[in-house]
Amino acid sequence: MLGANLFDREAARLKALEEYEILDTPEEQDFEDVVKLASNICNASIGLITFVDDCRQWFKAKVGLEKVGVGVRETAKDISFCAHTIHGDNLMEVEDTLKDERFTGNPLVLEGPKIRFYAGVPLITPRGHKLGTLCVLDCQPRTLTKQQQFALEVLAKYIIQLLELRIKKKNLVLAQKDHKSLKEKMQRQERTLARIQRAARIGMFEFDIAVDSLKISEGFCDLFGIKPTSQINKTQYLELVHPDDLPGFKNYLNSLQKGTARRFTYDYRCNKKRKGQHIHIRTIGEVVRNEKAEPMQLIGIKQDITRQKWYEQQLEEQNAELMKVNEELDNFVYRVSHDLRAPIASLLGLAEIIDGEEDINKVHELLLLVKKTLEKQDKFIKDILDYSRNSRQEIQAEIIDFHKLLEDIFSEYTFVPQYKQVEFGYIVVQDVFFMTDLYRLRVILNNLISNAFKYLQYHKENAFVKVKVNADAAKAIIEVADNGTGIPANHLPKIFEMFYRATDQQPGSGLGLYIVKETISKLKGEVSIESQQGEGSVFRVSLPNLAKEELSR
Ligand code: ADP
Repeated sequence: MLGANLFDREAARLKALEEYEILDTPEEQDFEDVVKLASNICNASIGLITFVDDCRQWFKAKVGLEKVGVGVRETAKDISFCAHTIHGDNLMEVEDTLKDERFTGNPLVLEGPKIRFYAGVPLITPRGHKLGTLCVLDCQPRTLTKQQQFALEVLAKYIIQLLELRIKKKNLVLAQKDHKSLKEKMQRQERTLARIQRAARIGMFEFDIAVDSLKISEGFCDLFGIKPTSQINKTQYLELVHPDDLPGFKNYLNSLQKGTARRFTYDYRCNKKRKGQHIHIRTIGEVVRNEKAEPMQLIGIKQDITRQKWYEQQLEEQNAELMKVNEELDNFVYRVSHDLRAPIASLLGLAEIIDGEEDINKVHELLLLVKKTLEKQDKFIKDILDYSRNSRQEIQAEIIDFHKLLEDIFSEYTFVPQYKQVEFGYIVVQDVFFMTDLYRLRVILNNLISNAFKYLQYHKENAFVKVKVNADAAKAIIEVADNGTGIPANHLPKIFEMFYRATDQQPGSGLGLYIVKETISKLKGEVSIESQQGEGSVFRVSLPNLAKEELSR
């Protein structure tokens, strides 16, 4: 029985043999050549390369066996000469098997090939495992010369090299396979990364300060709309930045290279446009420093933040608008409560006076005052309604006939006696469909025309109120002109503010022009004024033609 130690060593040897994957492999020219060379050099009729397995010895290469009538590629281990050879470290030579008690009863000696001479060298791996032998055999007793023994030992070492080479080749193939699959994996990851970058609208960069060049990703090229490339120089990089943002961007780059910051975030616009708008870019990165804390690289990502910027801007505008509306609302509530109550108080006073008045003429005068107060109240309430309707109601575009509309509005003034001495009229140039919100347009015109009449100087010989309309496919320009009192220059900047009044000479609430401006802005139009004190005023309104929008619905 093998001792435990021996048993472990044998198990390790068999494992090593298995790892070389040589057992039961086909013939190989290199091994065949070695065995032929060995039998030639040793002048032996049989040459073998054997590997000793658990229960058998297997021939990787053989020469001369067939001649002695043995066609097998393996024999049982217990009759094997080689099993003895691998117990030693050196060449084992048996000059005459019949004289060696280890082999006297061996069937290979007594029968079949009738082996009388054996010389074998163990095949020892670099780790010391004896896997098998290179051996030569003959049917007569004999010996090997020193040179033949030496040659046999050299060839045994060569066989080990062949075995090592096989393993290296196998490992190389495996490594190549690994490399290929690793390469494919990396390519897949790169493709995924590129897809993620595109979806998230980001690109990556590595700016090497010493060489002034940038390694960039596919996503980077997509983002800046440049031809796919993996590297650009600093000049090309700076060309991507919007000219207006370039000085700031250069300063920032310099400050990063000179400063001590580790992380950075910087926003700017690039030259590329989307839907007519320059794309906003956010750079988020890190300064890579050497052991002396000198900056070596800037690495990071570029992100398209155009949409975010747009939302931010919208939010700012909405906030400003909200604050304005809040302020106006406060003012509005105060003024409305005051202006609505004031006439009621004066009406109550008038009612009391009328009640005690016996002179019918006086009563008549007082009733006229009541009528005026009520008219003022009525106009004020109408203005408030217009204001609230403008802010709440959706725009309802319809085809506008300016002729008809102006005829209608002017007809309301023909019944007022003092207006008879006024030259008033309108000119309309309109040969296209013009569409806008009729209700709002009426509010605008009513206010401007009524102001023009209200602030006229009737004593002037040629007092006039004139309206000019020029409507085309894009817009309508409406001018309401009068040669009335005009507005002092210092009032002009505030004339469209809520409740702002430039004079107290005529009754009014100061709401009219505010409503005009708000209504025009709702219709996405513009209003301007030219006025000179004592000379008159021209209000110029520009309204977009909503026909195109309506047709495209
Ligand atoms: P109101 O006429 O009720 O005072 P508006 O808002 O309509 O309020 O007008 C604001 C101010 O602008 C008026 O108080 C007046 O001083 C001035 N204004 C408006 N239109 C004219 C005009 N056509 N000619 C002279 N002044 C005008």
